[in-house]
Amino acid sequence: MPTITLRNAEKSYGGTAVKAVRDLNLEIGDGEFMCLLGPSGCGKTTTLRMISGLEHLSSGEISVGDRVVDCVGTGTFVTAEKRGMGLVFQSYALWPHMTIERNTDFGLRLRKVPKAERQERVEKVMKTLGIDKYRDRYPSQLSGGQQQRVALARMLAVNPEVLLLDEPLSNLDARLRLEMRAELKRIHEEFKTTIVFVTHDQWEAMTLATSIAVMSEGELQQVGSPNDIYDRPANRFVAEFVGSPPINIIEVEDRNASALAGLAQSYFARTYPQIDGIGSVGMRPEALGFARDVRALPKGAINGEAVVTGVLPTGGSWIIELLTQQTKLFLTTHLPPQVNDGEKGFFYAKPEALHVFDAQGKRHIG
Ligand code: ATP
Repeated sequence: MPTITLRNAEKSYGGTAVKAVRDLNLEIGDGEFMCLLGPSGCGKTTTLRMISGLEHLSSGEISVGDRVVDCVGTGTFVTAEKRGMGLVFQSYALWPHMTIERNTDFGLRLRKVPKAERQERVEKVMKTLGIDKYRDRYPSQLSGGQQQRVALARMLAVNPEVLLLDEPLSNLDARLRLEMRAELKRIHEEFKTTIVFVTHDQWEAMTLATSIAVMSEGELQQVGSPNDIYDRPANRFVAEFVGSPPINIIEVEDRNASALAGLAQSYFARTYPQIDGIGSVGMRPEALGFARDVRALPKGAINGEAVVTGVLPTGGSWIIELLTQQTKLFLTTHLPPQVNDGEKGFFYAKPEALHVFDAQGKRHIG
């Protein structure tokens, strides 16, 4: 499958009243598992629908390899059926009066695939997805997770070059979701299909994607591997959207406001001459430590006074809530914490672990 390229793609609804997607430039490579990630209303589904051909662009261009499939300038538009992409939505839309086997076979029949080939493909996907044992049942006799498998099987049977999935796991309970994630990963490895997957769930994106495109208010914020997105967020929005507990942010509005601001500034003044541009400093919860005594602080660490205000076990790890002069901080640890509520001490972090953002939060500057 060639690369799918969106160039300056835009979508407005109702004239220009709602700009759902703005100036989107994105490449989805062959065999990629690309997650479109962002909060509700940021334009993920619209992007997926534009790629699929269910939605016309308002401006810009989409191409698949050398073939332009939508271009407002030239009026080119290839319909959804002719794009060779499979679409699975949150609702499974299985045929209630057809057995699981017939449902799985549905797309192949529609495409008039010869019977022997159909049988072979249906057998293969039903086995892969573990639904062959339900072949004679009807959708209403299956659980939500099993129905979702059938919806996926039906799509995979027609062997689409691209699989477009819009929050396909959101109707499932936590355990099934986890199982289906593992299954999707396996399907991706086995079928080598290019997958574009819409989700607002950062864990889902982090665990599944080879590449994540983070969107906010119709605009692409960053594209990168899950590690890139987490460790090298392009701006404050990405840093705050990804991570749980969320990244700790300290505003550096008032230069003398806190010990941390002062320390961070002296560190960054040495490293970055444009110190005046700093608006906030972020620290991931796992990058923070707590020491009771100033002598126990690691050499060179950024630190500040803090009081422990909560120790929350989360099963296998702990969240420690700290209160500094300026703000609340969350620290995570996998070792049983040796601190109690009300204890005073110092939080610390290695300077390299800090994320520094400009005054508008639009740029990660260190
Ligand atoms: P969610 O996660 O809630 O599904 P999303 O990120 O997928 O959200 P979209 O469904 O793409 O977001 O919607 C983007 C914006 O476009 C929203 O403000 C939405 O209200 C608007 N929108 C979507 N479809 C239409 C439509 N048919 N007519 C008018 N506005 C629309």
